[in-house]
Amino acid sequence: MTESNTPDIAHYIGGGQQAGTGTRTQPVYNPATGQVSAKVKLGNQQDIDAAVASAQAAFPAWADTPPLRRARVLFNFLALLNENKEKLAAMITAEHGKVLSDALGEVTRGIEIVEFACGIPQLLKGDYTEQVSTNIDNWTMRQPLGVVAGITPFNFPVMVPMWMFPVAIAAGNTFVLKPSPIDPSPSLYMAELLKQAGLPDGVFNVVQGDKDAVEALVNHPDIQAVSFVGSTPIANRIYEMGATGGKRVQALGGAKNHLVVMPDADLDLTVDALIGAAYGSAGERCMAISVAVLVGDSADRILPALQERTRSLKILNGTNAAAEMGPIVTPQARERISGCIDKGVEEGATLLVDGRNFDGAKAGEGCKDGFWMGGTLFDHVTPDMSVYQDEIFGPVLCCVRVPDLASAIELINKHQFGNGVACFTSDGNVAREFGRRIHVGMVGINVPIPVPMAWHGFGGWKKSLFGDMHAYGEEGVRFYTRQKSIMQRWPESISKGAEFAMPTSK
Ligand code: NAD
Repeated sequence: MTESNTPDIAHYIGGGQQAGTGTRTQPVYNPATGQVSAKVKLGNQQDIDAAVASAQAAFPAWADTPPLRRARVLFNFLALLNENKEKLAAMITAEHGKVLSDALGEVTRGIEIVEFACGIPQLLKGDYTEQVSTNIDNWTMRQPLGVVAGITPFNFPVMVPMWMFPVAIAAGNTFVLKPSPIDPSPSLYMAELLKQAGLPDGVFNVVQGDKDAVEALVNHPDIQAVSFVGSTPIANRIYEMGATGGKRVQALGGAKNHLVVMPDADLDLTVDALIGAAYGSAGERCMAISVAVLVGDSADRILPALQERTRSLKILNGTNAAAEMGPIVTPQARERISGCIDKGVEEGATLLVDGRNFDGAKAGEGCKDGFWMGGTLFDHVTPDMSVYQDEIFGPVLCCVRVPDLASAIELINKHQFGNGVACFTSDGNVAREFGRRIHVGMVGINVPIPVPMAWHGFGGWKKSLFGDMHAYGEEGVRFYTRQKSIMQRWPESISKGAEFAMPTSK
């Protein structure tokens, strides 16, 4: 298909697809074949205004709908997601490239947030104290904010939006999603399923777009809160832009996740964990492991197996059930990752396996022109090198050697990012010390990708999160609501006469 005769991917505003008024478009690729499959519309200020107006109009009735009835819409949505999860996963693979089983895992992790959000009546029920003073009661309630926005990255086109909108709408807000233009189709399908589930028109809207749409959304006066997930420089900008405008913002940024290999770790388990966490989804995960911290003699014991497994990765079209790793998302991303590897070589790291120049023809029929790379493995990486400092966001694993646990913790605590981390050991005291002393938001002990479950909340430390509230879980509910305290008494019980002293419990 040439770019001119591809279908357009549009917006979803007020309960239906809308072409919008923005005239710019961007090609959408199938990264496995390199073919353009569609053109996505890039929304402008008017498109954002239309979506926010639709969400604003839907807000009063939706906020007034009893939480149990809002939850019932989410229960319907949950059933539809379960019925259609293979279709959603196939859409992800077609535009992102990740292998189908991984795409299905992404959908499942999104579904778990919907399951959590179905419990919204319990989550919103507040606290009540009878008789805080004689004949006076006091209670707290949480109320929705209004129209809230979500801006999401390419790497999880279903799961990351679902970190946001199920909780936000269950809490009574209305929502405008601005997904990544790289893989826009699942957002429209989720909007259709929400409508089928009985969600009133205007409660959930999608505006496709790039920087222009993001700025129009974040600066819109009727947007009360912004959830952003993406790279750190942009997360930082969005946080400042939103906060300057007086909005509530949570902006999740980039990562560089370390996995510490203690000399007493189970070797086979650790190699399996490193291979899956470094090269799964072609390393395009904010919780991917990109640094192996090899403690003491673990380096000599683990590197031969790691090298062999990196060389023999099954790099195939994601639709092939045997695939372990699919293509890189865009040609630009592949070029950027290759540039990072070039720099690592120039800076003196030892290149054990070189993933540049992978022949796409080996990935399957029709894949010759796809955006392919192999896995890359570096040894003798040092903290001053750019391959150690910067997020590469590709299938590149850097090995750093340290003498002991204390140096491993010191190294990780100095890094600018603090999203995820793991420690592989069979010593309980090492595990405990590591968990307590590490300056990272999400920690795995013998778990390589410790993405917290739906009711625990997701968020990193340092430059991996701007704002103090984590995504989803109870922190997500707090982010999308504000607390009100009500104190009440009735005239029969009020003694006459003005009181001029600060009221205290009597
Ligand atoms: P990105 O920062 O390029 O894009 C994220 C969103 O911002 C997209 O919707 C995009 O359209 C928009 N955007 C892009 N450029 C912009 C600009 N100049 N101004 C305003 N908005 C802009 O990120 P990406 O490449 O889509 O995703 C990968 C990044 O996301 C990685 O850095 C990864 O670590 C991060 N990520 C973080 C988490 C987390 O939970 N911390 C989760 C997933 C991804």
